Amino acid sequence: MNKKVFTILKDKKVKPTAARELVLDVFLKKNFAISLSDIEKVLTWSDKVTIYRTLKTFEKNGIIHQINDGSTSVKYALCSENCEIKNHVDIHPHFHCEKCSKTICLEKQEIKIKNLPKDIVVRDYSLILNGLCSECR
Ligand SMILES: [Zn+2]
Ligand SMILES: [Zn+2]
Ligand SMILES: [Zn+2]
Repeated sequence: MNKKVFTILKDKKVKPTAARELVLDVFLKKNFAISLSDIEKVLTWSDKVTIYRTLKTFEKNGIIHQINDGSTSVKYALCSENCEIKNHVDIHPHFHCEKCSKTICLEKQEIKIKNLPKDIVVRDYSLILNGLCSECR
């Protein structure tokens, strides 16, 4: 098993299974967000249900986070080390390339929203920056 895969699963308290190891490995090999069907294309032997369940487990345990970039499918990207079970701390904007449809995390960006109504509770937010990536421009 890839050492990094093993370390992440252990840190996030996810029991290693063959499917989990392979799905996590797919994430580690990409530097952009991927969808369920992207994973399916790599792990051709696997079925959709297994991959979907694996993604949900990873999401719950702070290994990956979901991104809705406005394209047809929901994408996922690896979390920072500090994310924990049911407690994601990596809320950040994402960049979506309009040409190749790649989506990447803009981890170092923090956007403050001021003057929110006082009687609301914000749980999450999503901000997508659209444009052309370094390969497409
Ligand atoms: Zn996270
Ligand atoms: Zn692009
Ligand atoms: Zn992200």
